[in-house]
Amino acid sequence: LATEGPYDTLVIGGGPGGYVAAIKSAQLGLKTACIEKRGSLGGTCLNVGCIPSKAMLNNSHIYHSAKHDFKKRGIDVSGIELNLETMLKAKDTSVTGLTKGIETLFKQNKVDYIKGTGSFVSANKVAVQLLDGGETEIEAKNIVIATGSEVTPFPGIEIDEKRVVSSTGALDLQKVPEKMLVIGGGIIGLELGSVWSRLGAEVTVVEFLGGIGGAGIDEEVSKQFQKLLQKQGIKFKLNTKVISADTSSDKVQVKVESAKGGSEETLDADVVLVAIGRRPYTKGLGLENIGVEVDQKGRVVVDDQFRTSAPGVSCIGDVTFGPMLAHKAEEEGIAIAEIIKHGHGHVNYNAIPSVVYTYPEVAWVGKTEQELKANGTAYKIGKFPFIANSRAKTNLETDGFVKFIVEKETDKVLGVHIIGPNAGEMIASAVLAIEYSASAEDIARTSHAHPTLSEAFKEAAMASYDKAIHC
Ligand code: FAD
Ligand code: NAD
Repeated sequence: LATEGPYDTLVIGGGPGGYVAAIKSAQLGLKTACIEKRGSLGGTCLNVGCIPSKAMLNNSHIYHSAKHDFKKRGIDVSGIELNLETMLKAKDTSVTGLTKGIETLFKQNKVDYIKGTGSFVSANKVAVQLLDGGETEIEAKNIVIATGSEVTPFPGIEIDEKRVVSSTGALDLQKVPEKMLVIGGGIIGLELGSVWSRLGAEVTVVEFLGGIGGAGIDEEVSKQFQKLLQKQGIKFKLNTKVISADTSSDKVQVKVESAKGGSEETLDADVVLVAIGRRPYTKGLGLENIGVEVDQKGRVVVDDQFRTSAPGVSCIGDVTFGPMLAHKAEEEGIAIAEIIKHGHGHVNYNAIPSVVYTYPEVAWVGKTEQELKANGTAYKIGKFPFIANSRAKTNLETDGFVKFIVEKETDKVLGVHIIGPNAGEMIASAVLAIEYSASAEDIARTSHAHPTLSEAFKEAAMASYDKAIHC
């Protein structure tokens, strides 16, 4: 068997964690290779996650606006029709463009791209089953596991990606379902539920907990979010658990009951989306051959320098601890390359934003009120509604608010929660504020252009230690 290498850095997995680690490692002058098994770079995010979902969210929003919103803006249009085939093609085009773009970046930065499935032989040797047949072995001084995550299956409900789908199938339905039932009111359920609701499906979201939005969302934001999505026609069944799904008839019959037990009900749907979370993916990686420890949730155990229990083997991204977000994986990708080269690297986990790309968008960073209450931190709140912001009013997009949570004594920004237009872009300022340990006053005394939505951000900061001007 041919042995390649030795490389300084070998990355297993070409998603946002892995490809960024590989590029950064090569940029730092290290001889680097990246193994990817799906035949295309970019991982879950570019192929079946962030990018195709945002393409569908953006285009379904434009379609929905054209149908229901243009008239009140003085734009009379008629004959608006959905061409789902073209919309799906537009999504595929963005995916291909971006995944091919990573291949180009690999070439430019001299990262060797190895197409195949990697499996540990030892802590510095990986066997690769090549996609176009054959096998090879690669040696490296440092190996980075970046194998990502996969859909958490629902016990007893088989995903066929046609009638019972995961996010992957939900991004490629060839027909708008009449009725869609979403299991899980987290980020995937709400984003993809929104897509199909806008395109005409009757969407019901069944959520086990008493609120929507998944982990880390502020309770007040979550309630407002649910109201706005309900106004758009999405139905919610909270505190409800799914028991089974029967696909033997025309419609999928989904049995649900109250989370506390009792009151059973059967709901029917043309398509059921299973969106109850994702789990770390290490299948076939041969971790047992090198004694790498995984925890009860299947996450690869690492220390604060991403080191696993095997010497020279580190791990980043969805497959280890922390939020399953592309930008979190990317930060870790940079940090691990710097650690390999220089011996140190850092990620600030307090300053990782979350964004739900629905309409309106929801975005947050830092602490929630419920977390601060639980740990007894004294805090103050500053809020500013978009209805009082001139640009939001001009744009006829006034739903939502900006909420600052600041330390009582010092006004230091502890968390920012936004629901409203463009929240996903606006949150970047809050991330900077937290990164630089800014106070609310630092932000309120910074000039923000007029008329912009960001003035709501400034005034919410102002309201946390003083009074806002426009509200
Ligand atoms: P992945 O992207 O999962 O990449 C791992 C790669 O490793 C895969 O390509 C896999 O094929 C490969 N691999 C696995 N095992 C092997 C092996 N043995 N040999 C070779 N290759 C292997 N996050 C956001 O921040 N913003 C969003 O808007 C967003 N939207 C999402 C929408 C959906 C529908 C989904 C499902 C996820 C979304 N995410 C989003 C989450 C995001 O996709 C992940 O957090 C991110 O992809 C994690 O990156 P990663 O590099 O750790 O793993
Ligand atoms: P999630 O953890 O966000 O939400 C899952 C939801 O399902 C939770 O609210 C949970 O209470 C509920 N649930 C769990 N079991 C249930 C059951 N038996 N019945 C009813 N409800 C149940 O997971 P997700 O939405 O599948 O997303 C997976 C990951 O992908 C997330 O970690 C997220 O970070 C990432 N993602 C991010 C984005 C983004 O950043 N915009 C978009 C999509 C996905």
